[in-house]
Amino acid sequence: MNWRDVRKIDAHIHILPDEKLDEILKEDPDNVMRFAKAETYISCMDKYNISKAILVPASSPHMYYFEPEKTNAFHADLVRKYPARFISFADVPKTAFDLMESGALSLQDAVVNYGMKGVKIHPSNLHIPMDSLDYVPLLRRAADLNIPVMIHSNPTFSGFADDCAPDRINRMIKIFPDLIFITSHMGGVKWQDAMWNGYVDISGTLPFFIKEYGVEQTERILKGFGANKLIFATDFPDAWFVHGPNIFETYFDILDQMHFSDEEIEKIAHGNIEKILKINN
Ligand SMILES: [Zn+2]
Repeated sequence: MNWRDVRKIDAHIHILPDEKLDEILKEDPDNVMRFAKAETYISCMDKYNISKAILVPASSPHMYYFEPEKTNAFHADLVRKYPARFISFADVPKTAFDLMESGALSLQDAVVNYGMKGVKIHPSNLHIPMDSLDYVPLLRRAADLNIPVMIHSNPTFSGFADDCAPDRINRMIKIFPDLIFITSHMGGVKWQDAMWNGYVDISGTLPFFIKEYGVEQTERILKGFGANKLIFATDFPDAWFVHGPNIFETYFDILDQMHFSDEEIEKIAHGNIEKILKINN
């Protein structure tokens, strides 16, 4: 079994609203986000046997919108247009006050009105540490709604605190044992701290791991997480050192050099995320 041919769900991708894309490309025409279009991604899905992809926001008014309702509406439109292709995760309010005040209700609306299957939090873009009590109402509601929470984890921006550090996520896992957490990017450079964080997606940082540790060591790290916890994802269109449609060939070349059994590959490629989202294919 090889990674090009096996059916995959890409559990972490970005498609941007046209108006945001225009703003970004006006400043920087070569920005990698120029690939972040539904049509570009869908042509890759056909080529590389990706049956579905999860559209995730980034708690960012620069890439998406300040109001979570607007980002959710944008993603819901894409899911309506391509129901067989896309699943989406809800966005969250951007201030601590709004998280506490309206985070839970906003999430519930996204799930009930738009059929969102999870929620995505980027603590660094929010500048709110992941173990802050400000997240409690939102996380409690996610647990009650029985949906997973995906959290960006790799140090972003300098400052006094690494808001998305895996050990902060781990504290919330202890507080919400009934909630499914997905730590994105395997915790990034702090991967060791993410080893006991439950599910991890391999988006974005896999090429960095190869550059830093080589294939053998990276395989050992991935096996440390275990095939039951790893989730295939790319962070299209922007992984470290590789952008746009090149991401797929890079990911498959890396993963094909590793020694996972066919059963393990199926779990990582689609089985684990299907179990989490309770979908069949
Ligand atoms: Zn991302």
